[in-house]
Amino acid sequence: MSKVPSFDYLEQYAEIEPEIDVAIKRVLNSGRLVLGQEVVAFENEFSDWLLRGGSRSRSDDGVAAYSVGVNSGTDALLVALMALGLGRGDEVITVANTAVPTVSAIGAAGAVAKFCDVDADTCLMDLAKLDACITSKTRAIIPVHLFGNVVDVPKIRTLIEGRDIKIIEDCAQCHGAKLDGVFAGTMGDVGAFSFYPTKNLGAYGDAGLCITSDLELAEVMRSIRMYGFTDRQYSVRSGINSRLDELQAAILRVKLNKLDSYIVNRRVIADLYLGDLHPSIQVVRPLPGVQHAYHQFVVKLRNRDAVKQRLEQVGIATAIHYPWPLHTMSGFSHLNYTGGELPVTEASANQILSLPIYPEMSSTKVEQVCSAINQIVEDLGDK
Ligand SMILES: *Cc1c(COP(=O)(O)O)cnc(C)c1O
Repeated sequence: MSKVPSFDYLEQYAEIEPEIDVAIKRVLNSGRLVLGQEVVAFENEFSDWLLRGGSRSRSDDGVAAYSVGVNSGTDALLVALMALGLGRGDEVITVANTAVPTVSAIGAAGAVAKFCDVDADTCLMDLAKLDACITSKTRAIIPVHLFGNVVDVPKIRTLIEGRDIKIIEDCAQCHGAKLDGVFAGTMGDVGAFSFYPTKNLGAYGDAGLCITSDLELAEVMRSIRMYGFTDRQYSVRSGINSRLDELQAAILRVKLNKLDSYIVNRRVIADLYLGDLHPSIQVVRPLPGVQHAYHQFVVKLRNRDAVKQRLEQVGIATAIHYPWPLHTMSGFSHLNYTGGELPVTEASANQILSLPIYPEMSSTKVEQVCSAINQIVEDLGDK
């Protein structure tokens, strides 16, 4: 039996190598390596892609999207928080079952993270528990579209109506996901994307992007990503260095052209899993109205660790996103949680398992994973 990796960029690179090589040469021969025409072109193309894919377009109802390329998904969150004026003493509500950087960015902005528990079926922020997390210090909410599933951002808007609270969508895992026909990333005040190599749209290094429909806010983010400069190298606000380089932008332009087909492939693979997995295996599912982008295909298992180990023995790599809820890690002890505050998040962390999924994965490999896991679950009696 062949091995099944959980991520491997080489198979995809082999398919697009000639185009990537042309893009890299074009940049190196251009005489410009940072924040040049490739970055501008990628920003515009990404904005167009998001609007085209949604139910609205620039011309329809005047909705526009302004993209600001930055150095990582973490920085996209940080730049958004800084641009929205978040700082010392402000509270930002998010979830504890996310990548560490969601909360690193909140800390880097000087704000304090507060955690909302999640829903057991979707692993997304439980909006029924959100109101209880809001205090007079709450200035922003960061819903995380975990696994490529989508949080109901319009519902959050309704819940916070009349209060001065901003919404920054963590879109690191949801490129291509939609709610009621609208792309995740275009529903909050800012969408913060990561193009880390493993993501649905991955660079060959670090890259990220902020997107907003507010032109003024976009200009502030553009300034913050480079020392707080205006276009005259004159600093008008606190900024950082979070530039997107030309090589990554040129690579991302090649891959953006193929993103729709990559997402279609992910959905096809997910459908195969849904059809072939033993019916007793609980799948983390999207809400109604969501078109899942399947960055991860996640199941919940009572004997998770044993299943993971046995899959490994037959050459099938799986992952856990994420093994430690953030509030239980010593790096976040200053947030003053003791554990036990987020029962659903904590219970899920012991059950979730991410099965291999990537656009080039063959149906034979999916069947191989399904028959292995079905057999293991049967053996272990995990029903
Ligand atoms: C990957 C990821 C990030 C951070 O992106 P980087 O580009 O690695 O900085 C933030 N949030 C989530 C949910 C992620 O998966």
